[in-house]
Amino acid sequence: MTPGLERFPNLLSPFCMRRTTLRNRIISSGHGTRLVEGRQVGPRLRAYHAARAKGGAGLIVTEAGIVSETSVYSDTQLVVADDSIIPSFRLLADELHGHGCAIFGQLFHVGLEQPTGADGRRAVAYGPSARPSERYHTAGREMPLRMVRQLIGEFATAAERVRRGGLDGVELGASQGYLIAQFLSPGTNRRSDEYGGSFDNRLRFLRETIECVRARIGEDLVLGIRISGDELTRDGLGRDEVLAICETLGKHGALDYFSVTSGSSREIGAAIHIVPPMGTAIGLTVPFAAAIKARVSQAVIAVGRINQAAAAEDVLARGQADLVGMTRAMITDPQMPAKVAAGRLEDVRICIGCNQACIDRWHRGYGVSCIQHPETGRETTYGSTKPAARKKRVIVAGGGPGGMKAAAVASARGHEVTLYEQEKRLGGQALIAQLLPGRAEFGGIVGNLQREMELAGVEVITAQAVDRALIDRLAPDVVIVATGASVHRPEIEGVGEAHVVDAWQVLQGKANIGARVLVADWRCDWIGMGIAEKLARDGCHVRLASTGHVAGETIPRYTRDLALGVLHKLGVETIPLVRLYGVDGGTVYLQHMASGEAVICEDVDTLVLCQGHDPATGLEAALEGWPGEIHLIGDCLAPRTAEEAVLEGLEVASGI
Ligand code: SF4
Repeated sequence: MTPGLERFPNLLSPFCMRRTTLRNRIISSGHGTRLVEGRQVGPRLRAYHAARAKGGAGLIVTEAGIVSETSVYSDTQLVVADDSIIPSFRLLADELHGHGCAIFGQLFHVGLEQPTGADGRRAVAYGPSARPSERYHTAGREMPLRMVRQLIGEFATAAERVRRGGLDGVELGASQGYLIAQFLSPGTNRRSDEYGGSFDNRLRFLRETIECVRARIGEDLVLGIRISGDELTRDGLGRDEVLAICETLGKHGALDYFSVTSGSSREIGAAIHIVPPMGTAIGLTVPFAAAIKARVSQAVIAVGRINQAAAAEDVLARGQADLVGMTRAMITDPQMPAKVAAGRLEDVRICIGCNQACIDRWHRGYGVSCIQHPETGRETTYGSTKPAARKKRVIVAGGGPGGMKAAAVASARGHEVTLYEQEKRLGGQALIAQLLPGRAEFGGIVGNLQREMELAGVEVITAQAVDRALIDRLAPDVVIVATGASVHRPEIEGVGEAHVVDAWQVLQGKANIGARVLVADWRCDWIGMGIAEKLARDGCHVRLASTGHVAGETIPRYTRDLALGVLHKLGVETIPLVRLYGVDGGTVYLQHMASGEAVICEDVDTLVLCQGHDPATGLEAALEGWPGEIHLIGDCLAPRTAEEAVLEGLEVASGI
């Protein structure tokens, strides 16, 4: 018995579906990576999945495989619409099987939720009916009947390609308001032919697709669907109808599992559930999975912020699902299943739900990664630890996330590393960021990186700043400067005549705040929104004035949209596209960034500055002329986010 089996008997037990036996119940569910090369599985995507397979995942479901050219909107989509995908599937399947991991291929059509056309033109978004997309501002076009029938055939042909590629199963993407769900939903399916109208007619597209796919893949391969247990929209699929759909399909016998998520791309509030961020509940979709499990005999997969083995075991032990999607848990720590099996729970790097480097990089058009583990998505470069050619003495100045990552990586490569932190506690700005409302989990990055340093053997000295004298005395080979940043206080007119405080003072409880507050937000990130939320919850009247087109413009969209909803409920008044100009007693002067007109806010008791940060360049200046190797990482190079700091820590430490 492996050490973890006693504590996690359900999670670590095998599970059979048709001819496939999963070695455990841990699944990397289908998710976009933007690691696709040439519309196929290339070395980057193969290396990405192989890392999770090596790390002990039971099953990997590939990202949405596009079955038809009418659903292509990016060069980074996996396209299963022609046979050229098959050899790349085969290489992937062989590699994952070699690591003991099963692999299913997800098949998908985006339908009305098409963000853009393939070459950048505005999309012709085909769906069951011509319904507009609220998120993508497309009008939508109804599929003619021949196209509906052709598409069912394209799903079946694509499924056969999955089989010929050597994968173990097929998953139909019927969730979150995309094409198949659009056929199911009365909100998007207004057809008057046999594919619309009654419950049975709306179900017809999926039912026929399942039948055709099963006929093409035979009886050996697994076939499942991914479905939202509740779309959580005004006119989409509600819980009762989804239960009826699953019950009806379950009786049919062609399906082997239901992978249950929630939400829909159709509405901003419901889309948050596609990748639920920090601030949402752990396992928030599990009740939907449990409800479906009570109605079907097939296997049920629960997903949605199941970020730790204990939570996953609990879901299984309670009988709420048979398998668990732990996708971001393995984006953060590809070795998570193996560590759990080995009983090394304290070594697991836990996903904090920040969405910053995984789904947000995807939304911005870049490959998936992790704020805490930037090796993710960069496996072809950083997939293994490369021992240093010559052992060097390395000093890292600064114990924020970037410094800790640099120290851990350098030490793991064989260097002799000492990290100095001027404060008593490690963590840098992460310790402040975790004080924002709903963001306590952010502090998890500190413990995770601290553990990495311990495992790598880094010497840590706290309450000790690094200066030139220390460097001259210790004479290391390399200094990595990770001294971070301080609050930026802009020079604005009238600041001496008004009550002006900054964000850090508010978060650290060092400011007296009046009843009527204006938050002047230059960075348009978590801080301005979080300060506004905190002060509104404290009972203040809050205006949030930001330089962005919308508050939170620079942060991951699901995080931002969740926060915008909260601010709206709290009655925070948001003023977009304004720069701070001056303050005079109880009046704050803003300037509209497009018109140049003044925007005057009166009756302000306290002005809270969220105006970004200044790099801490003192050590850099002090080391001018020092003959050794010096590297700057993170905010002391330029104030940005923990993502860049940690990545630069990895890059620098990998090169010394
Ligand atoms: Fe989790 Fe954040 Fe890493 Fe995404 S970037 S996997 S949410 S820790």
